[in-house]
Amino acid sequence: MEKPWLAHYPPEIPHRLDYPNKTLPDYLRETAAEFGENDAIYFLGKTLTFREVYEQALTLANYLKQIGLQKGDRVSIMLPNCPQAVISYYGVLFAGGIVVQTNPLYTEHELEYQLNDSGATVLITLDMLYPKAAKAKVKSNVKHLIITSMKDYLPTVKKWLYPLVQRKQQPVIVKVKEQSDQHLFSKIMLQRNTAEPNVEIDPVEDVALLQYTGGTTGVPKAAMLTHRNLIANTLMCVHWMYRCDKATESILGILPFFHVYGMTTVMNLAIMQAYKMILLPKFDAETTLKTIEKLRPTMFPGAPTMYIALLNHPDLARYDLSSIKVCISGSAPLPVEVQEKFEKATGGKLIEGYGLTEASPVTHSNFVWDGERIKGSIGVPWPDTEAKIISLETGEEAKVNEIGELVVRGPQVMKGYWNQPHETESVLRDGWLYTGDVGYMDERGYFYIVDRKKDMIIASGYNIYPREVEEVLYQHPKVQEAVVIGVPHEYRGETVKAFVVLKQGEQCTEEELDQFMRSRLAAYKVPRIYEFRPALPKTAVGKILRRTLLEQERKKE
Ligand code: AMP
Repeated sequence: MEKPWLAHYPPEIPHRLDYPNKTLPDYLRETAAEFGENDAIYFLGKTLTFREVYEQALTLANYLKQIGLQKGDRVSIMLPNCPQAVISYYGVLFAGGIVVQTNPLYTEHELEYQLNDSGATVLITLDMLYPKAAKAKVKSNVKHLIITSMKDYLPTVKKWLYPLVQRKQQPVIVKVKEQSDQHLFSKIMLQRNTAEPNVEIDPVEDVALLQYTGGTTGVPKAAMLTHRNLIANTLMCVHWMYRCDKATESILGILPFFHVYGMTTVMNLAIMQAYKMILLPKFDAETTLKTIEKLRPTMFPGAPTMYIALLNHPDLARYDLSSIKVCISGSAPLPVEVQEKFEKATGGKLIEGYGLTEASPVTHSNFVWDGERIKGSIGVPWPDTEAKIISLETGEEAKVNEIGELVVRGPQVMKGYWNQPHETESVLRDGWLYTGDVGYMDERGYFYIVDRKKDMIIASGYNIYPREVEEVLYQHPKVQEAVVIGVPHEYRGETVKAFVVLKQGEQCTEEELDQFMRSRLAAYKVPRIYEFRPALPKTAVGKILRRTLLEQERKKE
């Protein structure tokens, strides 16, 4: 297979990589041994060193073993970015468990589905999410809840103020009692048990992570990512960023770690390279600008919506953003204008990358320093990563500049979907991952994404699967037919629009539907626009023509 992109690689980036026979926790142990007293995490005024992260992860691992966790058991982590998210992830892996990353915004119903599908027996979450977690526990296989609080890792003064702040923002303060099946993270940490648990892990075969995604067909399912998959992708990133030496950088952690993008390009990268992570539990333009000015991070992986929000902040020019050296933008197309403006505002590099959950996630990006960058292109495949375009008509490899489905192969590609052999067969063929994204490769080996074969909507960096939203719309007693599409949105990238046909003789308002949807779905999935129609375009066999609606919307732009 020809790989025209390799001709453009700068000499610093190897074409092939060697992967040591190591697990993810091995890297944390090594970093703690070499850079133990360096700052690993900065979180709202408090810092933790690599040694502290390592010891606390071990303490959690030993506790998990005490409460019966066996190798391969699943542990759901439902946390925003905070020190506990890092400690829990590595703690579960040290114990030989499989991490199930869970979005804290999930509704009870969504959480229940994920817990049941993964068979998780332990759930680690925040006190403020306790009511949702406790209800889901009853309806799943979860035997133990481990509860932590944001205040567990705040500096002392902020810890005192925490109840006041919480009361202001949220009327209920959740006090969780310790019980035989309910454990307090803070108490566990007091045990300080730093013995290495004796678990044999095979980095190539053993799954480290179940990462839920809609994949190409829209049904929520978990990509099984092994230690090797995740390490390979992080090592590729290390080589791509060859001017970022070990223990020299600090990295802004706003991308959520419960998504594989933030997990690889922030958390695992930082642990492997001894970079300091500056964690922010949620994105807010002003806080981000202030944090960059004050704490001077050098790396900031993000999504286009984040960079757009910063650029649109009225006081942008007042902030000193000159610490920024390199940012990778992924998850959606990066507008050229945004790239240019952001580079001007910071003096650093903002490069577009591409990836998907099933590939841990990165497969392509533009070069950062040497090597030509092509605006509007997702760049070239990373080391050890093969990519080609398959014609949508013939199923054969497409010609240069011909549009087709992007398929990729490499050590970062998942083992398969958890308990879904048919879904796995449909996307993994001869080691090639069929991405469901449509694009082309030019004569130099640069790739471009033009559309999504799958119908997934990406709003503010969150993936929304139309089918799931439609299913809930169909549950409304007045709705006869519904279809959901993504429409362009200035700030969110895309937003959800629903087309609804009401049952004969029924009257219904947007507000009524909105209330109904909000009670059943996480807010980011709820349609922002409704259009009532007497009928929807359909195929001869009665399938609703989503494409036609998309085209009609496009014509309006
Ligand atoms: P996820 O599995 O959540 O990581 O979502 C992966 C999907 O995001 C891909 O299959 C693409 O549809 C989309 N995506 C990621 N990066 C880009 C990009 N640079 N340009 C266009 N789409 C992207």
